[in-house]
Amino acid sequence: MPFESYTTILQDARKRKYAVGAFNIFALEFLPAILKAAEEEKSPTILQINPIHYQHHDLPNYLAYVKAQIEKASVPVCLNLDHGKSREIILQGLQAGFPSVMFDGSKLPYDENLNSTAEIVGICKPCNVTVEAELGTLNDEGLELTLATQDRLFTDPEKAKQFVEKTGIDSLAVAIGNAHGFYKGEPKLDFERLETIRESVSVPLVLHGGSGITETDFKKAISLGICKINIYTEMSAGAFAAVEKATSDKDFTKDYPTLLSFARDEVKNVVKKKMQIFGSSGKAA
Ligand SMILES: [Zn+2]
Repeated sequence: MPFESYTTILQDARKRKYAVGAFNIFALEFLPAILKAAEEEKSPTILQINPIHYQHHDLPNYLAYVKAQIEKASVPVCLNLDHGKSREIILQGLQAGFPSVMFDGSKLPYDENLNSTAEIVGICKPCNVTVEAELGTLNDEGLELTLATQDRLFTDPEKAKQFVEKTGIDSLAVAIGNAHGFYKGEPKLDFERLETIRESVSVPLVLHGGSGITETDFKKAISLGICKINIYTEMSAGAFAAVEKATSDKDFTKDYPTLLSFARDEVKNVVKKKMQIFGSSGKAA
């Protein structure tokens, strides 16, 4: 089926109270696994490409192939540029044909993030490209979460309201105790803050750093307005573990395509489980 728009996918998630998984593909190995999982689960999905993985391919050719595969899928799929950290990367993404981008100015001072994000929206809107942006800083350093760190790092609901209104973004990624990569301890999400942010802003909310959050916490976050959840680390670690297990088997035939198929199968498992937890399974039926 043709590409589904980011807005349509997130609006449906919001209306029917589930979250869409946004799964990062670093290269072609993950692509068929995620699309297969989505088709088997009858789930809408979002594929993402992070510029840190551009080194693995030639972007325009790669994107053309990814888009052709998406168009063959029997479920709604959108494609998003993940963590575009500069105007140049966003412009390169537009030129390459991303229908949706995330501009990440979260490390910039508030005013700079706001102004840069507004500028990116001004560039993307006339091209019919949607923009996700982030306010607050993910706890990627694994800092101890005292009230002082929370106030410094987490998304401020008042600022979020102003940020969304002034920039015109289509969705907002929040920092509420979530982090990229594997968590250095138990993730502790600030649900009260999430609820206040939900009441303050009109656009769908996004949770980055989904690998390692418990099923209970995912469901609570979704009930409080999270419509999109990003997953990468768990797929990568799952693929790695599957390869490790296969190669440690003394009977393994040392056939490289077979090895890759173990990795793909595990990625598919991870994605399917997430779709079931997020409640997106069956929503494309
Ligand atoms: Zn992220």
